[in-house]
Amino acid sequence: MDEPLRTRRKLEHDLREALDTKTQFEVAYQPVYSADSDRPCSLEALSRWNHPTLGFVPPDVFIPLAEEIGIINAIGTMVLEDACGLLAQVPGIDMAINASAVEIGTSGYPLRVMSTLAKWKIDPKRLEIEITESLAISGEEQTARNIEVLRAAGIRFAIDDFGTGYSSFSRVQNVTVDRIKIDKSFTDGLHESRSRALVEAMINMARAHGMKTTAEGVETIEQREALRSLGCDNVQGYLMSRPISSEGVKRLLAAGERRSKSGN
Ligand code: C2E
Ligand code: CA
Ligand code: CA
Repeated sequence: MDEPLRTRRKLEHDLREALDTKTQFEVAYQPVYSADSDRPCSLEALSRWNHPTLGFVPPDVFIPLAEEIGIINAIGTMVLEDACGLLAQVPGIDMAINASAVEIGTSGYPLRVMSTLAKWKIDPKRLEIEITESLAISGEEQTARNIEVLRAAGIRFAIDDFGTGYSSFSRVQNVTVDRIKIDKSFTDGLHESRSRALVEAMINMARAHGMKTTAEGVETIEQREALRSLGCDNVQGYLMSRPISSEGVKRLLAAGERRSKSGN
């Protein structure tokens, strides 16, 4: 075997093993804020793999690998369990999870999601599922059916990384989702008039179709101000908060509560 292949096989092996023991995985939560207040209104669950020798392996690396070797459903289940467990402890805040194309296209997916919510007694209205633009417009039958079933149960859907999928606005308008998440690349370009006009068009399109908007990757005060003035509903990014542990979430929410009680 050549070197890259050997490295890959080893990573596959380690990923399977990690899933058996579960101890190397964690879920981080990134707060999402309302654009016109400092209050977090939602959390996005992001999986973390702490490899015993390699250290932190980014989800951009291990999620595609998990899809390829057929263990993505198990990872998705683990994240959903953790997210529901946290939701049960923090009332008054919503949750978003990322679902890969493979998961959404699995026939048992809606049942898995609904039974986990029921187990933790979580209102389905508190959960949002983020899917990619290409998946949203794929028209794949099982995927479309699963989305329909879950939306009928009250779960919301969002298109992640919106604007990067090369689909035309007109195609996206035919998809029934509840939110678009404007990709970080557009947030990064907000100081340029061309990119700003694009973001404005996205927000107006979303609003015209009754969809909410979240801007991703907000890192500066200027970006947040621009988004607020363009009418973006929610903001997410390092300016407000990086992804944090579930304990960190509880501390953050408790601090917010103390502030509002003291009238600040
Ligand atoms: P995503 O869903 O677009 O998640 C946002 C990514 O941007 C996260 O990286 C987050 O840490 C990062 N981010 C957030 N705010 C900022 C910012 O202000 N600046 C910068 N530079 N980055 C920011 P992360 O956690 O490495 O996740 C990467 C991708 O992996 C996610 O992109 C998502 O597509 C995927 N992913 C993560 N967890 C899961 C999971 O449990 N299931 C599935 N299917 N995919 C996942
Ligand atoms: Ca996401
Ligand atoms: Ca995204």
